[in-house]
Amino acid sequence: MPVTSRVDDREHAGDAADADLPDGDALPINELFLSLQGEGKLAGVPSVFVRTSGCNLRCWFCDSYHTSWEPTHAWMSLDEILAKIESFDADHVVLTGGEPLIHDASATLLHELADRGYHTTVETNGTIVPDAPADLASISPKLESSTPTPEGDPMAEGEWADRHEERRIDLDALATLVDRFDFQLKFVVTGRDDMTEIEALVADLREATNVPVSDDDVLLMPEGQTRDQLDGTRALVADLAVEYGYRYTPRIHVDLWNDAPEK
Ligand code: SF4
Repeated sequence: MPVTSRVDDREHAGDAADADLPDGDALPINELFLSLQGEGKLAGVPSVFVRTSGCNLRCWFCDSYHTSWEPTHAWMSLDEILAKIESFDADHVVLTGGEPLIHDASATLLHELADRGYHTTVETNGTIVPDAPADLASISPKLESSTPTPEGDPMAEGEWADRHEERRIDLDALATLVDRFDFQLKFVVTGRDDMTEIEALVADLREATNVPVSDDDVLLMPEGQTRDQLDGTRALVADLAVEYGYRYTPRIHVDLWNDAPEK
């Protein structure tokens, strides 16, 4: 759907009192479209994507910067969102962002989708636990390499770098997500240097949870928002997956459609 209005609150997009805010439960929607899941255990499955606007982090490589660095959206009531989802012929719904779980209405939407029998995936950075059902929690903890540099931060002259660094890993939230949901841990890998932190975080998580975290649950995904960028990381990340025994996940939406919107 078209992007029609900017979010004013730069910290938590969606808190702004936009003139077009509908009555009742509503979400700031950046995109709502039918495509193929491009990443993770369900890669290739036709899915409706509900992309909310706003994030509590600011990864420098964010591939949905219209929901984080420059958040834009149109408010939609939950009734409008559900009607749009039901207009597509798909059984899978992916709630993504931004960070969809910063919005209370995301939990309500997940309940409504479960009541209607949809398979739901919630894509989260792992810092917030929803009080809601989800069939798959696709958890993407953000590594040190994701932190924006002050030189590259156009929004807040470096203040977001500190905030991002403070917030990006919440082990209690990660452990609770893993305990409560079927899950995958999806790491955006920029290079070999990321592996030390991934290994340490997986070890900490295995200590902190009551359920097994298998190597198959740990997915390494090459960083890159375009085919050209993926060409520079894909082979290395595949080699790292083989070397460390983790799973490699492609980004098939980038391979198929490059960085086109609503794909
Ligand atoms: S957590 Fe996700 S949506 Fe938020 S800034 Fe990072 S990549 Fe973007």
